[in-house]
Amino acid sequence: MSINIQKSVFLFIFITLMSCTQDDSSDITVNETIDTTFVEKHGGLQVSGNQIINKIGEPVSFAGNSFFWSNDNWGGERFYNPEVVSWLKNDWNTKIVRAAMGVEDPGGYLDNKIPNKNRIKTIVDAAIEEGIYVIIDWHSHRAEDNPDEAVLFFEEMATLYGEYNNIIYEIYNEPLDISWSNTIKPYAITVISAIRSIDPDNLIVVGTPEWSQRVDLAASDPITGYSNIAYTLHFYTVYHHQWLRDRADEALNSGIALFVTEWGSIGYSVVDSEANKWMTWCHTNKISHCNWAVNDKEEEWSIVVPGASATGNWTENDLTDAGKLAKNIILNWPH
Ligand code: MG
Repeated sequence: MSINIQKSVFLFIFITLMSCTQDDSSDITVNETIDTTFVEKHGGLQVSGNQIINKIGEPVSFAGNSFFWSNDNWGGERFYNPEVVSWLKNDWNTKIVRAAMGVEDPGGYLDNKIPNKNRIKTIVDAAIEEGIYVIIDWHSHRAEDNPDEAVLFFEEMATLYGEYNNIIYEIYNEPLDISWSNTIKPYAITVISAIRSIDPDNLIVVGTPEWSQRVDLAASDPITGYSNIAYTLHFYTVYHHQWLRDRADEALNSGIALFVTEWGSIGYSVVDSEANKWMTWCHTNKISHCNWAVNDKEEEWSIVVPGASATGNWTENDLTDAGKLAKNIILNWPH
């Protein structure tokens, strides 16, 4: 990709976002002091109608990074350390990170529990230390096969971390093409019930059918009886265009709140105009998002090139095109 073209795209995104925020900048009343962390400023996140609000009732949209699958020997697990969280916070202005614990696949949690769980805890502890938000993600495509394992894991996480406003529980990354009402929703209620018996208030995000794109199905039969529940929307700009934004708009209009726990750019292609459209949409609708993924695997979504340091300190040459695009978006996101 031409750097000049890339920069002009970044600039366009930046200008678009800034011009969108000018009108409501005077409404910002959250006090910022040098001694206050980002999470202390905004407090616990709460679903209110179709939006997620901070402690003083303002709709919020945060930008950050998702780590890669935590599985043993998949490569991405090397980045699960406090140095990377600190680097993303300080060099990228990341306000939210997502720890993506692989579950069923080889080297995942069911294979090898302690190392995978410890990787998640490392990221959560680092995010708390840095004062940013963190998603505890049950990174599964078949979570309904092991609801008891999910319950035990999230009970432990709620016990350890439920008191921290930093924490967001994501109980099912991407269901496949299965029934929302008959399979995903009952699983979700089982896990939500377990979390709520320990942690009454932190935000819980629930995956939706077809790789978290069928937010319309969740919107037509939302979870009731529990508060502070949002629904997952994932997009990859190479596949997902206006039709998915239209679907998400309808879901929002029906009253559910959405959270983009994962998104990916085209990365290596010349100009990702779709990323600009999606980011404008996220900003307009006050939706938070995490970029996939903190990794050096040779694929279009990795933010760093193969062999880059696994503890941050990346130069621009260490970033992939996808990494440069993501960094520019996150660094300039109007929080
Ligand atoms: Mg709590």
